[in-house]
Amino acid sequence: MTEIMSPLAPRWFDSHCHFDFAALDHEREQQWALAQRSGVSGLLIPGVHRQQGEQLAAFCQNQPFYYALGLHPYFLSEHNGDDLCWLAQALQQPDVIALGEAGLDWVLAATSEQRQQQWFWFRAQVALATTYQLPMILHIRGAHDEAASFLRQQQFRYGGMVHAFSGSEQQGKVWRKLGFRLGIGGAMSHPRAQKLRRTVAALPLDCWLLETDSPDMQPAFWRGANNSPASIPLLAAMLASLHNVSLAELAACLEHNLQQTFPRISARSEPDTAE
Ligand SMILES: [Zn+2]
Repeated sequence: MTEIMSPLAPRWFDSHCHFDFAALDHEREQQWALAQRSGVSGLLIPGVHRQQGEQLAAFCQNQPFYYALGLHPYFLSEHNGDDLCWLAQALQQPDVIALGEAGLDWVLAATSEQRQQQWFWFRAQVALATTYQLPMILHIRGAHDEAASFLRQQQFRYGGMVHAFSGSEQQGKVWRKLGFRLGIGGAMSHPRAQKLRRTVAALPLDCWLLETDSPDMQPAFWRGANNSPASIPLLAAMLASLHNVSLAELAACLEHNLQQTFPRISARSEPDTAE
């Protein structure tokens, strides 16, 4: 069965997957086996805080897993000043693909003081990504305009990915112009997500990367305790139909987008023997 399918089936990549999170401990192996059988060839695992980031090199060893390092606004209370020194050191490892995830999340910031704190970590990480010439993985909720205009002001040149994009078509265009691609996943599968699906269809395929954000952000059709990278091919089918392209065309386009966004992934991936 696998021999017959592999030359024909497109290869997919989960460009934002918290596959190291403890929620997946009891099912990680089965989910990865399922994902691989479904044509998923690799994952990008973002960093969220220091303690977690310190484990990622070992976690990704001998697997087609890639990782980034960063300090996520969700874990604000866990970051301290030393973590920036740690990050500055750790980003110098050649196997770090990007800086992130980092960003601004106004859903998490009820007070202006919390917003100020998020700005502190975001600014500091933009400066580090600039120093080490790394693309960024951004987590942005309710702050697309502020974050984008800050990066423009800083003349940030290394691009990256705005993960779980939830902004407007116009905001998407602004991000693309700044050199960022947009992550899309389970959110577009929900019956009430018409606006998001319109945005996904309106922006060219060159803008998009597929992601699960597993174990979170379950697609409407996914049943189970956790989301899984195995849902990527089903999300790909949705994206292909929204853009009226074949799965093979979509896979080629997404692969190109991934390599452009994260050049170190293409530098490290093995030659594709399936094609
Ligand atoms: Zn994430």
